[in-house]
Amino acid sequence: MNKLVGALVTFAGICLVILGAIFLVAWSVENAVAGGMMVLIGAGLMYYVYRVEKIEAAKPQLVSQTFNVTMSGSGEMTQKNMICKSCGAPIAEKDVKVVQGGLMATCPYCGVVFAMQEAPKW
Ligand SMILES: [Zn+2]
Repeated sequence: MNKLVGALVTFAGICLVILGAIFLVAWSVENAVAGGMMVLIGAGLMYYVYRVEKIEAAKPQLVSQTFNVTMSGSGEMTQKNMICKSCGAPIAEKDVKVVQGGLMATCPYCGVVFAMQEAPKW
């Protein structure tokens, strides 16, 4: 989750809980129902953000790494369609070597060495 979105949802949740609490303090039947609803929704929002952030924190670093790779990959690499078989990262020309007549690619991200099945077009 985007940190800004998380902060905004948490803020909205806090506002709802405070508003709901005010409604509950200024006790009357219809206010109590609305106040109770607001407290529940606000608490639910904060719990949701807490859960999502906890899950995202538990994920391995690979998620953001893949994201960076996608963002930094140039169009040239995509056109040649060389992708690491292990982690899916784009392979640059400098990472491909001719070894005993075959093309061997070394993944710059996870270090896996594999043979290219199709010769890249150059
Ligand atoms: Zn790789």
